[in-house]
Amino acid sequence: MTGAPAIFSAIARGDSEVFEISSESLRHVLNQCPGLSDIILQAFVARRQLLRESPNFIGLRVIGSRYSPDTFRVRDFLSRNRVLFTWTDLETDPQVDLLLKSFGVTEADTPVVACAHMLLLRNPSNKMLADEVGIHRTLEQTVFDLLVVGAGPAGLAAAVYGASEGLRTAVLDANAPGGQAGASMRIENYLGFPTGLTGAELTDRATLQANKFGAHLSIPTAATRLTFENGYATLDAGGSEPITAKCLLIATGAQYRRLDVAGVERFEGTGLYYAATPAEALLCRGYPAIVVGGGNSAGQAAVYLAGHASRVLLLIRGDDLNKNMSSYLVNRIEQTANIELLCSTTIRQMAGNSHLQQVEIQNAANGQQQTVETPAVFSFIGATPRTDWLPGDVERDAKGFVRTGAALAQSPHWGATRAPFLLETSRRGVFAAGDVRSGSVKRVASAVGEGAMAVQFVHEYLKEM
Ligand SMILES: Cc1cc2nc3c(=O)[nH]c(=O)nc-3n(C[C@H](O)[C@H](O)[C@H](O)COP(=O)(O)OP(=O)(O)OC[C@H]3O[C@@H](n4cnc5c(N)ncnc54)[C@H](O)[C@@H]3O)c2cc1C
Repeated sequence: MTGAPAIFSAIARGDSEVFEISSESLRHVLNQCPGLSDIILQAFVARRQLLRESPNFIGLRVIGSRYSPDTFRVRDFLSRNRVLFTWTDLETDPQVDLLLKSFGVTEADTPVVACAHMLLLRNPSNKMLADEVGIHRTLEQTVFDLLVVGAGPAGLAAAVYGASEGLRTAVLDANAPGGQAGASMRIENYLGFPTGLTGAELTDRATLQANKFGAHLSIPTAATRLTFENGYATLDAGGSEPITAKCLLIATGAQYRRLDVAGVERFEGTGLYYAATPAEALLCRGYPAIVVGGGNSAGQAAVYLAGHASRVLLLIRGDDLNKNMSSYLVNRIEQTANIELLCSTTIRQMAGNSHLQQVEIQNAANGQQQTVETPAVFSFIGATPRTDWLPGDVERDAKGFVRTGAALAQSPHWGATRAPFLLETSRRGVFAAGDVRSGSVKRVASAVGEGAMAVQFVHEYLKEM
């Protein structure tokens, strides 16, 4: 269904019949037989959940140190791509020497990735890992009606609506499906999920839905350059063949800025993190953790980490948490005994040898400083748009977010023939949705809404072509 190979096997006990069904036929059945489709899709989702929760399931095995940035990268890449795996920590697992020996490798080779009893890769790049594990799928050479760049909530919504409405739709993402929302441990304000859901659940379901309707996903594939020829968009994507489309949707979202602290980059992956998921939570279990930022993502991270760290220090620059955070999260923070809110406080210094050990923080109001012994800082400050791959004639605002619709009233790119559609950029047939768009509301629901809405404008544009 997803195009990825199975990473576990099965044993038939007793006489059995096996049916091999091509993904094309399976997709046909899913779209033509709703009753059967319900059973298969529900089983698919339930099976993943069971495997994820099963204590005996190993899946892929990653062996590496908690203090190695490459081990963190490999774990992060696999978990964001929903590959089920078990991590063996070089620092704490008593079996690790035996295990390394059984694969014929040493500590110096780590991180290594293995499947059952077979060593697959030593310190692979994300691309190598994607190829080996079967995540990576290349797109067929054709002209797509709609090419979506970015598979966060906006991109996945556009994929589902585009493909289900008969558009030849391709979606690519530089890293993994789900985007920022994929890193959320609890989305509570998404319509229809009163008890909340994790970003991973939302991503699993949306990706399955996009696949079901026949959207073509290619991951990890990064857009590097966009050009136009005869009215068609041509996208260069990291060395593979250029991709051509009649319409393009920019859904590359935003990412958190680096902390303004000297030398922070050396702790990225060894103490400084930009997401708080089980992968990161494991690294601060039983220790204090610091979360920086006053928005919803910081609040959510603080609440989630409070269940793992001994205490969480939440640092905000201003003096009022209510200013940028939803009140349901502010309440939750106030009710969580081991979260300490430190207002007017910033990080001055981060120190450690191979990994983060100490952080010096300062209160700007009274000048007081304190040193916190911690293995983990989580940063959620100032999102910047991911638009470096766009050409200059796709207009952006002063902060780099893509301008659309009415914001282009004065644009020299639009003549008198017609005004741009609501989500259309300064280039005809190029649309933007979600966090990357100037003036967007930074929420999962609005990204999904915009992704869906963009498809409507794509139809209008195609009629015009
Ligand atoms: C930890 C966290 C928790 C959050 N919790 C909530 C919440 O509870 N409720 C809520 O409403 N909102 C929440 N948000 C905000 C919400 O996740 C975002 O508003 C939403 O994800 C934006 O969706 P998007 O599709 O526009 O962009 P993104 O989610 O940013 O996705 C963009 C995608 O584009 C890809 N990409 C970037 N550049 C390229 C390129 N050059 N080529 C190919 N692909 C590229 C990225 O890899 C990424 O997958 C949270 C955010 C975070 C970080």
